[in-house]
Amino acid sequence: MSKNTGIVKDCRYLRHGTEFSHPETPQRLVSIYEMLDNPDMGWKFHGIEPREATREELERVHRPAYIDRIAATAGEKLYMLDPDTVTTAETYDVARLAAGGVIAAVDSVISGETDNGFALVRPPGHHAQAEVAAGFCIFNNIAIGARHALARHGLERVLIVDWDLHHGNGTQEAFYEEPKVLYVSTHQSPGYPGTGGMSEMGRGAGLGYTLNIPLRGGADDALYLRLFRDILAPVAEAFRPELVLVSAGFDPYVGDPLGEMRVTPEGFAYLTRTLLNLAEASCGGRLVLVLEGGYHIQGLTKCVRAVLLELLGETCATEETLARVAGQADEKADALIDRARQQFAPYWPVL
Ligand SMILES: [Zn+2]
Repeated sequence: MSKNTGIVKDCRYLRHGTEFSHPETPQRLVSIYEMLDNPDMGWKFHGIEPREATREELERVHRPAYIDRIAATAGEKLYMLDPDTVTTAETYDVARLAAGGVIAAVDSVISGETDNGFALVRPPGHHAQAEVAAGFCIFNNIAIGARHALARHGLERVLIVDWDLHHGNGTQEAFYEEPKVLYVSTHQSPGYPGTGGMSEMGRGAGLGYTLNIPLRGGADDALYLRLFRDILAPVAEAFRPELVLVSAGFDPYVGDPLGEMRVTPEGFAYLTRTLLNLAEASCGGRLVLVLEGGYHIQGLTKCVRAVLLELLGETCATEETLARVAGQADEKADALIDRARQQFAPYWPVL
């Protein structure tokens, strides 16, 4: 069945970081937006209008002094927050618009205006911590979106799946003691930022609500699909999320210059279908993806296209396809799944 899929797409997202060479370049979104301008794509999606996140919305994740520090960079041609992360004159506005774009997508899906959505925004967010900018990230867009869903819509359970190549240390920190948000991350290890070991599982009331699955380089469609099917899906079924958010980074793409993973555009579509199925079972299919990394511009664009078509229900990977691809995983996948089960089962007996 065809779905009403929303997209957040706005040329103002191109106004951050235009004046220097950096892997997180505006060209990433230029390429995606051009793909959407193609007559066989763009009209199929419902445009969701972004707005700038308010001070109050930012403060649900970030410290006031940190927000002030970013605000003070407005108008500065170039300012280095850390060796990877710089601001340009309009970054403060663009970063607020990125967080607000996620909020708008969350509102759209929760209100039922759209069935699911994809916030095609930048700068990315999942490395941004309460008072630290890092890894190309200024404000933690997905964490701000999840906090908004709890605070404004009164949700009690939000699932964040982070399939970016890198561990979302900022998102993990934001919800480390929060049982209302289940954070599940797959990421390359060893690798930036160095966090995300399997034993990092949350603290206090949040213990058991952070699940990290570090992966060696070379992980392919089959391995990811096995992990999503055998670990993530049963945990999600037990958690019963009212909303599923995805830190959708496409740096696990097979050709990405920053990673060694081997996920194909079809692979990302299969992961999306797995998440749609679990969202369908627990919350009427409410799924919002948020763009994070992905630095092979052509590959990134192909991956986003494949995911968007899956969201619409146009390609619709079948159970048979998913089972066939997952079945191609080797014994390394079995060993990893056994280890994850042992680690997580005390908190998730369903495993
Ligand atoms: Zn990344």
